Amino acid sequence: MPVCPNCASCKTLKNGRIHNRKQRFKCRECGRQFVEHSPKKVIDLGTRELIDQLLLSRMSLARIARATQVSEPGQKTT
Ligand SMILES: [Zn+2]
Repeated sequence: MPVCPNCASCKTLKNGRIHNRKQRFKCRECGRQFVEHSPKKVIDLGTRELIDQLLLSRMSLARIARATQVSEPGQKTT
């Protein structure tokens, strides 16, 4: 299961599909619905390279999102 883009929780559930047949998910922590790999703002190349490096270092996606600040607007800072 993907992590929630809003609260980075991994407690997500499948929640049907959207019009283009992409899987939709719902977060059990904050109730947010989201689609995996949905179009987002363009991430600049430097950030993408950084993410690639972080992925190689086996850092979790949630931590990468925080480290690179590649996340949806309105994410609560903890
Ligand atoms: Zn959430």
